[in-house]
Amino acid sequence: MKSKHLTLNIVIALILGIVIGSICDIFSQSGTVKFIDQYFFNTVGQIFLNLIFMLVVPVVFVSIVLGVVGVGDPKLLGGIGLKTLIFFLCTTAIAITIAILLALAVKPGAGHSDLMKSADVSSYQKTLDKQNEGAEAPAKQTFDQTLINLFPKNPIEAMTQGNMLQVITFSIFIGIGIMVMGEKALIVKQFFEQFNDVLMYIISMIMTVFAPIGTFCLVAHAFTGAGLGAIKQLGLYFIVVLVALILHFFLIYGGTIKFLAKDSPIKFFKGFIPAITIGFGGSSSNAALPVSMECTKKMGVRPEIASFVQPLGATINMDGTAIMQGVATIFIAQISGAQLSIVQILTVIVIAVVASIGTAGVPGVGLIMLAMVLTAVDLNPAAIGIIIGIDRLLDMTRTAVNITGDAACAFMISKQEDRKLAKKAN
Ligand code: ASP
Repeated sequence: MKSKHLTLNIVIALILGIVIGSICDIFSQSGTVKFIDQYFFNTVGQIFLNLIFMLVVPVVFVSIVLGVVGVGDPKLLGGIGLKTLIFFLCTTAIAITIAILLALAVKPGAGHSDLMKSADVSSYQKTLDKQNEGAEAPAKQTFDQTLINLFPKNPIEAMTQGNMLQVITFSIFIGIGIMVMGEKALIVKQFFEQFNDVLMYIISMIMTVFAPIGTFCLVAHAFTGAGLGAIKQLGLYFIVVLVALILHFFLIYGGTIKFLAKDSPIKFFKGFIPAITIGFGGSSSNAALPVSMECTKKMGVRPEIASFVQPLGATINMDGTAIMQGVATIFIAQISGAQLSIVQILTVIVIAVVASIGTAGVPGVGLIMLAMVLTAVDLNPAAIGIIIGIDRLLDMTRTAVNITGDAACAFMISKQEDRKLAKKAN
């Protein structure tokens, strides 16, 4: 991949997608626009996304195995794992705090109590009621069940269902097995290394051939159906989420690279552009994973660390999602005329951290998990119906933030390990 050209092409495709998609959105009732949207934007975009999705499970499996083998020491692996988890939890808590403070200051829902009576709420309430009509109400996972479910009974089933946490657990065990067996498992190790090379080659090929046109189509399709008009009514909510995302992106990730990794944030953000555009275009942390790992490795992140930290992050670290959930909760409280107490706000922070961990790295799930946060502070989850119309665009933006957080963590840990090794060598 000639990355300089490719990055430029993807950025141009992204901008063109936004412009042409927004124009098409104005004429979204026209038959020609509908045709172009369905048979060109959506079809090409989905093919591109599927091509990347096709690689996600094999890439996660192979790279985590190699990541564990590459770290080479179970103790060091534990240390990296712990650091990763602490980083993920802290940055998510910071993200939601920024979001809540901003929403409390700007009050995007003030004076919009009419929205609560709008048709969107009742139609979403009907959807919720319908879901609950079935004999089995959606089972709430208790903590013990969540723990049990980390361990797959059948790893193949976990892979076919895309249960990333179970795939990660299985991969860690295979990696530890290969690491401990050393020479005896050399062929298995080599198989994984070569399989990884093959996967990386396919990713480069897909990116070189399809990324610009695929990104253009995905973004154009998202904007065509986005109903940009709806943004007007929910404008302040939209802007608060966007500003909180931008603040978190530059301050927290930029700060992490500058002060913890002691490197240049500009170099980091620039090198990560291809992954950001795929995250933005596809609204899926999982889909962006193969490209985002390639980007960080190119920036000098040690492969074993990128391979371990980023798949885990794409599954459990969702700062952008937490930001949306924080702003949405305050917004819904404001339009409902509810006053949240300090205890309730702290509850929102804790539950949103948990909800974002539970959010799968695929489009739209963050909004579904928002119901959990709203219910915890006695707000009506049906109010999600109000913001659902503009969530597609916010999903794109928050996904870009989600994956950048994972990459910043991998970058920081890798640089810190490099420094440790250099100190030892002196
Ligand atoms: N689309 C987001 C992601 O994949 C998850 C969400 O917030 O819906 O990271």
